[in-house]
Amino acid sequence: MCVCTAVDFIPMLTYFPTPLPGEWWYSVLCRYHVRSGHSKYATTINELYGGRPMVHGRLIPGGDCAAILSSLPPGVLSIDDVLANHTLLPYYTRFFTADKKRQVWEALRAGRGSGITSVRTQMPDGTEGLKYCPACYHSDTTRYGEPYWHREHQIPLLPLCPTHKVPLVVVPVKFARLSEMFLPLASVRCQKTTTEDTKPWEEPLTDMLMALLCQDHVPTVGYNNLYITLLNAGCGTDKISQQQALNVIKIQKTAREYYGEQIYEQYFAKLSATILARLSNWKLSSPERYALLAVMAGLDADTLFGPTLDTTDPLLQELLCYKETGVVYGKSDLATKMGIQPGQLDSLAKKYQVKPFWRQIRQDRNRCIRLLLTDSEYEAIQNAAKKSDYGQLSVFARTILLSAIAPKGEK
Ligand SMILES: [Zn+2]
Repeated sequence: MCVCTAVDFIPMLTYFPTPLPGEWWYSVLCRYHVRSGHSKYATTINELYGGRPMVHGRLIPGGDCAAILSSLPPGVLSIDDVLANHTLLPYYTRFFTADKKRQVWEALRAGRGSGITSVRTQMPDGTEGLKYCPACYHSDTTRYGEPYWHREHQIPLLPLCPTHKVPLVVVPVKFARLSEMFLPLASVRCQKTTTEDTKPWEEPLTDMLMALLCQDHVPTVGYNNLYITLLNAGCGTDKISQQQALNVIKIQKTAREYYGEQIYEQYFAKLSATILARLSNWKLSSPERYALLAVMAGLDADTLFGPTLDTTDPLLQELLCYKETGVVYGKSDLATKMGIQPGQLDSLAKKYQVKPFWRQIRQDRNRCIRLLLTDSEYEAIQNAAKKSDYGQLSVFARTILLSAIAPKGEK
């Protein structure tokens, strides 16, 4: 039965409950409201904040946490514990620089706002709501005497319960309304979850979002494995340069196919080269696109934040495959086969220090033999050229002719 709802008797906030494991701060306030016995939300709100207007029940915590803790006896509950374990702050600040993170924490410790304004509160279907897991609902009731809102379930992108791997159930409500009302999970009748129609990305995405919330990862210095992996997967721009950029269209197309319309519309429809450049340098502050793209690229959190991965540019791989065949291609033919311009072949060779193994376009090749052929002769040569690796008909004819007159042993 109820073993963990320890009660701390203090002058102002009598019956303020101790947060349960992974409990969202708003949920603690809801349980306080129930314990207080007040019939009106306003009475509880007035008691919590001493008459000062406060916003609570948001995905990013504000001055409300410090305000309440100042009314509890010292040592009962620390602001750092509340922020780190009972809000989504660690998730939303995962990609912040150390300085920016420190500023946010200091502001919240001092009872001010976090300064973080651009948080997407809608779920992929565009609605807002509080989420719970029916299996957690039952196990929490057995263990603690009542169900409660878990903080991780409130991540708008989170599709499954990280513990039970079942889809979460949504109670539609606007976050903006939660400041005026208390909605304890115990007041919600537990619904069954539907396990049909789960998508293959839901589990890896759940794991990734949980790692961003709970594990101690920080952006790596000097490299970005997400950027490297997306380039390796062929999502780079066609322009070959030392610092190759990611291509908006390729990433949008892949994301749309992988995640479907809803996630595409919310997170990728307005993708720009600037956003991708910021992401490549860990300068994007919100965690959603990192999580979605990392899962799409097949990365888990340990690899995303782990040692640098090898670059395996698909164009370089293709070039090396052609090199291995031993065939001496004309520069234009090779470029055509690879779907790039002859000039890009030079850039690619320079970037990866590959010694050109193709014939350069020669400016002194200005003599010409004119051959008159019957239709059937022309067709026979054309068919042979098509089967060969030489591409253009004239290149094929010249190669055959030169190899026929070459001294023995030479090719
Ligand atoms: Zn669960």
